[in-house]
Amino acid sequence: MVTDHRASVLIVGAGAAGLTCALQCAEFTDVTVISKGVGPDGATAYAQGGIAAASLPSDSIDQHIEDTLKAGAGLNDIEAVIRIISQAPQCVTWLSQQGVPFVKAKEDQWALGLEGGHQHPRVVHVADRTGWAISQTLRDQVNAPPKIQFLEGYMALDLIVQDQRCVGIDILTPDHTLQPWATGAVVLATGGFSAAYLHATHDHKASGDGLAMALRAGCALMDLEFNQFHPTCLYCPGQPPLLLSEALRGEGARLRLPNGEYFMKQFDADQELAPRDRVARAIDSEMKRCGLNHVLLDISHQPAEKIQARFPHLYKRCLERGFDMTQEPLPVVPAAHYSCGGVHVDSNGQTEIFNLYAVGETACTGLHGANRLASNSLLECIVTGMEVARQIQVVGFEAGTLEAVPQRFALSLSSMGSIEQHWHKLQSIMWNSVGIVRSDARLISAMEGIQVELERIPAVDKSSYLNSIEWAEYLNVLSVAAESVRSAYFRRESRGLHYTVECPQLNPMLNGQHTLIRQDWDQPRYTDKA
Ligand SMILES: Cc1cc2nc3c(=O)[nH]c(=O)nc-3n(C[C@H](O)[C@H](O)[C@H](O)COP(=O)(O)OP(=O)(O)OC[C@H]3O[C@@H](n4cnc5c(N)ncnc54)[C@H](O)[C@@H]3O)c2cc1C
Repeated sequence: MVTDHRASVLIVGAGAAGLTCALQCAEFTDVTVISKGVGPDGATAYAQGGIAAASLPSDSIDQHIEDTLKAGAGLNDIEAVIRIISQAPQCVTWLSQQGVPFVKAKEDQWALGLEGGHQHPRVVHVADRTGWAISQTLRDQVNAPPKIQFLEGYMALDLIVQDQRCVGIDILTPDHTLQPWATGAVVLATGGFSAAYLHATHDHKASGDGLAMALRAGCALMDLEFNQFHPTCLYCPGQPPLLLSEALRGEGARLRLPNGEYFMKQFDADQELAPRDRVARAIDSEMKRCGLNHVLLDISHQPAEKIQARFPHLYKRCLERGFDMTQEPLPVVPAAHYSCGGVHVDSNGQTEIFNLYAVGETACTGLHGANRLASNSLLECIVTGMEVARQIQVVGFEAGTLEAVPQRFALSLSSMGSIEQHWHKLQSIMWNSVGIVRSDARLISAMEGIQVELERIPAVDKSSYLNSIEWAEYLNVLSVAAESVRSAYFRRESRGLHYTVECPQLNPMLNGQHTLIRQDWDQPRYTDKA
């Protein structure tokens, strides 16, 4: 099979990271963006709180760096933190120039939200739908210039790698046919893998496709044990997830038990504004101690007009589900939210395979360390999207010709039974055994459960391809979940988002030691090279 499809730069994913990279690359070459979703999708469209950037006279980039390092619990790559945080103000300016309607407090000052772990209000926002506004604005821009080809409903299946160079990519089209593309540079911007968990703060398929493709191609993945659980997702069984932004706590919302008792003061001096790992663990502990299926988040003591003005979207969405946050507390539970780990990249977003880059949540840059500071993720998406574009311009992006490959047959896994059941099984394993509090016994049972699943699924070899998006996603998330569990079992300490009962303390010997894993390694290894 010889391909007619070519792209100088092919970007997989249309969230904040992929679209930023596309817009920057379009200034020097033609670009193709593919997205397996149609319309604003990915985690970006769900982001509520905003993007962190120091701008008050009393605040500074140094203090933002300090807060990022404190949340990251000794595992941040300091060079990455300084590099990325220092670019925050320019990122906000760039987004504003693209047309993102950030709210202003006065003519020359953004309205700033306060979120957990930040010393100052510094979260620039568009009410409580910042991600939606960023997504819409960048999509409008991407659809405008003639140089960008934007293909929605196209799923990347696998990378084509020759001699450690990425030379192309296999894509599944909306009509389920296989299209190999010859490429100059490929950018993985596919988001994280929170869909591995039964309860997540969003319901789009964050199945870790970019991580799985990179892993199969021979790249290392880093710090996969650090999965962030957001403390406050609305508890509303049977309904799509609804995250209750950290900004609510920034505006004074308090956590309490159904008997009225405020409990955060027993766990943390910073109480409701402690970093997410500590708040989520406190809630988890109280739920287990009291046998509760949720706790309560209460902002009803604030004036109703203030709540409605600051959180118009959340107010409406809660009301639709029968909760009036101006009058009553909201039932909340922690839920899987963000993958701190990802594809190991250098400071230019370059993976270990030439011409293959990773940006945004897919990449592990070392910014977040063992725990992401609130609202640093959109920032990382914009900065890494821009940096990778600059690197591609320097390194080059000429698409070659793919070697002819024999026709491949479409592998259908319909004989494997219902895909929903497989997803449910994996998500239950991850939720029950690789959650907020871990133990060796549970991690071992998770590894065994995932291994059984892996062995049941027929191998996709060079003569075949998967012709179903759902099965391809499932295989991807399964393989990334397996590496996440192996990484969690390997780390013999508790740090940031990774808490294990056998080793409840942080081990200072492991400061700055990242967990690196490859498909052909028996077990992960520590490395100090972020
Ligand atoms: C509910 C919620 C609220 C949040 N709030 C905030 C916040 O206030 N501030 C903040 O900084 N962060 C926040 N985050 C985190 C932040 O939104 C994400 O980390 C960030 O948006 C990720 O952007 P991304 O571009 O890396 O990936 P995503 O936005 O997840 O986009 C991934 C893209 O890749 C595509 N894709 C995936 N796999 C394939 C494939 N195989 N082939 C083709 N396309 C593919 C998807 O279709 C999608 O277009 C929040 C996250 C959630 C879930």
